[in-house]
Amino acid sequence: MHTPLKASEEEARRLDAADPGHRDLFHVPPADGGSYPETAYFAGNSLGLQPRATRDELLADLADWARLGVEGHLEAGRPWLPYHELLTGPAARLVGALPEETVVMNSLTVNLHLLMVSFYRPHGERVRLVIEDSAFPSDSYAVRSQARFHGLDPDDAVVRLRPRPGEDTLRTEDVQDFLAREGHTVALVMLGGVNYLTGELMDIPAITAAGQAAGAVVGWDLAHAAGNVPLQLHDWGVDFAAWCSYKYLNSGPGALAGAFVHQRHLGDPGLPRFEGWWSTEPGTRFLMAPVADPPATADAWQVSNPPIFSMGPVRTSLELFDKIGIAALRERSERLTGYLEQLLDEITPTRPITVVTPRDPRRRGCQLSLRIGPGAGDAADLARRLRHEHGVVTDVRRPDIVRVAPVPLYSTFHDCWRAVDALARCVAEES
Ligand SMILES: *Cc1c(COP(=O)(O)O)cnc(C)c1O
Repeated sequence: MHTPLKASEEEARRLDAADPGHRDLFHVPPADGGSYPETAYFAGNSLGLQPRATRDELLADLADWARLGVEGHLEAGRPWLPYHELLTGPAARLVGALPEETVVMNSLTVNLHLLMVSFYRPHGERVRLVIEDSAFPSDSYAVRSQARFHGLDPDDAVVRLRPRPGEDTLRTEDVQDFLAREGHTVALVMLGGVNYLTGELMDIPAITAAGQAAGAVVGWDLAHAAGNVPLQLHDWGVDFAAWCSYKYLNSGPGALAGAFVHQRHLGDPGLPRFEGWWSTEPGTRFLMAPVADPPATADAWQVSNPPIFSMGPVRTSLELFDKIGIAALRERSERLTGYLEQLLDEITPTRPITVVTPRDPRRRGCQLSLRIGPGAGDAADLARRLRHEHGVVTDVRRPDIVRVAPVPLYSTFHDCWRAVDALARCVAEES
């Protein structure tokens, strides 16, 4: 079959043979169109694939419930009462945190709210809350509702940082300049570590330092960063962070999220928190006391007893990250995304497609975001054709962005080749 690409399919296969990744550990959905049995799956930034190990691990937890009933709290193979502690170590290692700074609980936006209860405390002229203009809608709604909760007008309290005119991504120096100029009015900076839309990786340590130098608290939404890029939350001095586990962490739809609170805030009795029986020391939980005795760890931010059957898949997935290591995954990620970019470079000069993600590998994770120009038709139609005619799964963020994320755990060089070959076939050259 004639391919519009100069790069050959055989070359992509050779790269895979030399650098095979871990695809065999995952269920890859079958393709419903195209010439290959499996999809080329590039939507792991939206919902990661299912590890093959997940089902048996989950079934074992279910079997304990069948066998033990309530006694499973203490007698299950993995007893339910301290079950969440099994996730703490691997989650902490993944984000560069101390175990006491880390907890897996709830979902992402819920965690952002619980953390903002503690860390967004407007007072005097320091009332503003800074996000990026291309923030994920849930974050926008969350911060606006936090402003209203404090009796503030969200249109005044929420600052949305925009790229320079004609640019697609935020410059670190512009964020720093804003904080140097107006930081005295800022109570909280809460940006995405990797932007969901553009794939830009922010300079987390530099922006954290700039925000804190201006007297603000700095928290990060790591939905698109956790499991995608190496993080050092403790050493970077980040005040707090939260992330979900269903994107790069492959823990299933709606999976439990993570939260990080820096050591310097742990055990601070001056921090407001919303509490429930899981906020108290495990040793005192069943004393049924009227007043909580919270531990000096991130566990104090827990509220309810956790859903065990949702914790199993997170545990299974974090074990994979622990075993393979985020440093090795990041190296493979740079090779895969670099290859995808190189292939795209072949077709973008003659087609109305632009990569808006930064070219510098240090300023991005694995995702490349493509802006589909008017000459290439509707982005959603394009993604549909990629999937149904070529078995290439991407996703669309309206109106004109198609996101393509080669995930180092299971994506292959051949997947990248398929994606760009299919893209070239779907979008004719401009004459
Ligand atoms: C995926 C994502 C969310 C989703 O929020 P949930 O509470 O998990 O539904 C929120 N924020 C960002 C930046 C995301 O990428």
